[in-house]
Amino acid sequence: MSRRFDAIIIGAGQAGPSLAGRLTGAGMAVALVERKLFGGTCVNTGCMPTKTLVASAYAAHLARRSADYGVMLDAPPRIDMARVKARADTVARNARTGVETWLRGMERCTVLQGAARFEAPDAVRVGDQLLSAPRIFINVGGRAIVPPLRGIDTVPYLTNTSILMLDKVPAHLVVIGGSYIGLEFAQMQRRFGAEVTVVEMGPRLVQREDPEVSSAIQDILEGEGIRVRTAATCITLAPDARGVAVGVDCTAGEPEIAGSHVLLAVGRRPNTDDLGLDKAGVKTDAKGYIVVDDGLATSVPGIWALGDCNGRGAFTHTAYNDFEIVAANLLDGATRKLSDRIPAYALYIDPPLGRVGMTETAARQGSRKLLVAKRPMTRVGRAIEKGETQGFMKVVADAETQQILGAAILGTGGDEAIHGILDMMNAGATYPALQRAVPIHPTVSELIPTVLGDLQPA
Ligand SMILES: Cc1cc2nc3c(=O)[nH]c(=O)nc-3n(C[C@H](O)[C@H](O)[C@H](O)COP(=O)(O)OP(=O)(O)OC[C@H]3O[C@@H](n4cnc5c(N)ncnc54)[C@H](O)[C@@H]3O)c2cc1C
Repeated sequence: MSRRFDAIIIGAGQAGPSLAGRLTGAGMAVALVERKLFGGTCVNTGCMPTKTLVASAYAAHLARRSADYGVMLDAPPRIDMARVKARADTVARNARTGVETWLRGMERCTVLQGAARFEAPDAVRVGDQLLSAPRIFINVGGRAIVPPLRGIDTVPYLTNTSILMLDKVPAHLVVIGGSYIGLEFAQMQRRFGAEVTVVEMGPRLVQREDPEVSSAIQDILEGEGIRVRTAATCITLAPDARGVAVGVDCTAGEPEIAGSHVLLAVGRRPNTDDLGLDKAGVKTDAKGYIVVDDGLATSVPGIWALGDCNGRGAFTHTAYNDFEIVAANLLDGATRKLSDRIPAYALYIDPPLGRVGMTETAARQGSRKLLVAKRPMTRVGRAIEKGETQGFMKVVADAETQQILGAAILGTGGDEAIHGILDMMNAGATYPALQRAVPIHPTVSELIPTVLGDLQPA
């Protein structure tokens, strides 16, 4: 069967559904195709369930520390992992149902369930239906990489998706990959009671961050009893009576770790390999990401790629911003650009890391004269009052233009407080403008002007 639409959207992740809303609102007949779960990664196996679990882990952590606050519990807290899981499942299910209900009730939107595959630059097949449209939007997201480690086929392993199915706490979780996703799972499982070892191939954790951020994060995790093995240059897997033996060719420490479970958290790859992109002539890069221009257009006129699959962002807010750019340019006559986006994100360990703009390391690679200031959270009143003084905040600015180039807030409330800096950067304001703001007391944000006052040539 052949059907014609004004637009086809492939994927009901973070950009597709909102785009369907705008396009149908503008009077277009839209086909939206989803092959699996409405809401995509963030809703089902990413942000939402993980942050729900992180909240449970935080509750467990606070309960264990309750005496620090003068709150005496008569027995140590006990984790009911089935209930913890049920809570995360409910949050994800409610969000997924919300997205699906919204789309199915959307006027002029035809929802199709199945895998979409291009047959021509303007035609996509979904099962026995051939859909065509002058505009096609690809929002297919990505999935966990399963690296070709020696022995990978001989042992069971977990990914960010399958680990969410656990309703028992692993005895010993070995996390392969010491970056954003791996560290969130490592800390939460430790707080649920698992023994946890993080194995990282590189010389330090979260290598995209400044070394002092990596080392502060390592201190936080090790302080909770997580073992960290960096420089694990040759990781191997083999069956073991306790579960899985992970060979780690590290410069120091035992050459092998026996874990009950292994989580692979070594990165993600785009879902572009089975899309038939060659039939449409859509170009991808060496890693399979769809090549897009500053307005998210692909190499084929009439086809756009939004979200993780274009490799220009790896977050829900970047996928959503892709939608905003495309919708504004197509429907509102705007000229919004991807390159206007200031990178910002958070790492949701506890305390969280809020990040915006350049790292100090990246800023130093340019020829700018820099100003840098840093303040430990032990000197932030709000952190002291909350009894959460780990971490620090750091700001990097351009000495000549007085523009803030980047910042990191690793500390309680860091994921929220960073927005004060992000907003000023987006407004194009200089750092003295932020110094004149009168922030609320007592907050973490109120110390940002003080940090700016400490900026020194670096
Ligand atoms: C464990 C984890 C934690 C995360 N935490 C955060 C966080 O805290 N904050 C944050 O900003 N980001 C987080 N992310 C990243 C975030 O989930 C993604 O960046 C975001 O979901 C990307 O949205 P998207 O729309 O590009 O793709 P997705 O959300 O992946 O959606 C793509 C959709 O396309 C569908 N699809 C794929 N191929 C086809 C096809 N051929 N036909 C039809 N449908 C298809 C898929 O089934 C899927 O539903 C996390 C990710 C993970 C894995």
